[in-house]
Amino acid sequence: MKLLPLILLTASLLSAQTPPAATQKKGPSNPPPEAGDDVRGYNDTPQLPGQKWKVHDITRPRPVKVTPAPYVNEAPPADAIVLFDGKDLSKWTQQVRGGGTQEPKWKVEDGYIEIVPRTGKLITKESFGDCQLHVEWQIPKTSVGNGQGIGNSGVELMTRYEIQVLESNEHQTYADGGAGAIYGVWPPLVNPSRPMGEWNAYDIFFEAPKFEGDKVVKPAYITVLFNGVLVQNHKDFLGTTIWRQVGTYKAHPAEQPLSLQDHSQPVRYRNIWIRKLSATN
Ligand code: MG
Repeated sequence: MKLLPLILLTASLLSAQTPPAATQKKGPSNPPPEAGDDVRGYNDTPQLPGQKWKVHDITRPRPVKVTPAPYVNEAPPADAIVLFDGKDLSKWTQQVRGGGTQEPKWKVEDGYIEIVPRTGKLITKESFGDCQLHVEWQIPKTSVGNGQGIGNSGVELMTRYEIQVLESNEHQTYADGGAGAIYGVWPPLVNPSRPMGEWNAYDIFFEAPKFEGDKVVKPAYITVLFNGVLVQNHKDFLGTTIWRQVGTYKAHPAEQPLSLQDHSQPVRYRNIWIRKLSATN
C-alpha cells in the first residue's frame, strides 16, 4: 500500500536533480571579455613556454602598486614623427571590424582622441619597425565595469604586439592582463597606474621581430616606461597577441602600422609621437 507513494517520491526527487536537457541553460562557457565582464583569471589555459604560469593565470601574483611621480608633459623631440598633436587624425585611418578601412570615427575634442566604441581600431597610415614611441592615455572618470571590462584598449605595435591599456588603479584582473602588461605573456614589474580621469604615459622602446622565410629568428622585444617607471625590461613577445592562447609568429614585413585597440570602451589618447630607430649605429 505504501510502496507506490515512495516510488513516486523517489522518481520526483531524481527528476528534480536531473532536469530534462531542454530546460538546461545553453550558452558559451567562455565568452570573450567585453564591457562589464569581471575577469580575474583562468586555470584552463595553456602553459606559457619558459614560465611557470599559464596564460592569464588566476594564481599569478599581481604587480605591486607604486605611486608614480606627478605627470610631466613629454613634448616630442625635433626628429619625432608626431602622430597626434591634439588637433586631427590626419595620420590615421580606421579598420572596420570584419575588414576594410574608413575615415576615423573616433572623437577629437579638447586636445585628445576618444574611442567611439565598436567603430574599429585606429591605424597609422605610416609603417614602423624598431621605434621609440610615446603615448598618453586616460580612462574617463565616468567609466564603469570590472576586470577586463573597464578602460580596455591597447597599444598594438605592428598592429599585433599589444601593450595593454586598462583601468588598473582601482580594478583588478589577471596579472598578465593589466595596464603595462605584454598582454597574455608578461605582467608589468609594478603597477604605477594613475586614477581614472588622470593622464598616464607610456614610453615604449620596441625591437621588431626578424624572420627568415616563415621562421622567426629573433622575437619582438619591448621595454616600457609607465608613468616614468620601468615595467617591461627588454621582454619578448611569443607572437601575435591573443586572448587565452599562446601567441605564434607569422612572418610579416619589417615595418607595419601602429594601431590603437577598440575594445568597446571609451578610452582617451593624446600626445602620440614616434621615432624610427636606425639599425646602423
Ligand atoms: Mg586590450
